[in-house]
Amino acid sequence: MSPAELIHLATEVRKKAFAPFSHFTVGAAVANAQGDYAVGCNVENAAFGSTICAEAGALSQAVAQGIEEITNIAIVTETGAAPCGNCRQLIAQLAPNCHVHLASTAALQIRTLSIRELLPDAFTSLE
Ligand SMILES: [Zn+2]
Repeated sequence: MSPAELIHLATEVRKKAFAPFSHFTVGAAVANAQGDYAVGCNVENAAFGSTICAEAGALSQAVAQGIEEITNIAIVTETGAAPCGNCRQLIAQLAPNCHVHLASTAALQIRTLSIRELLPDAFTSLE
């Protein structure tokens, strides 16, 4: 699956985001080299700590579907924002070799980074 196709999936699922508090909608899509994919959108909660990020939703869905060796993650927001620290940690754990594509709907720009660039020296093991 190409980055453009993955960004399209993230753009579509972003429309389902539940963001009544921040109004900052996020869509995420993850895929492996075989084309297996999962998507997620942010789901906010009045108890802010219970909010689920789009990236976390997509990665959880991938785990539930048995999708392994994720190679690409697309994250779509209005601004092209990078994932939060918690999601960077999730990506480092579940997709350590992936390309992270950050797409902006407002400027129609895409930045592609590695998770090592987004989270250098990530915590990945108790050993
Ligand atoms: Zn996050």
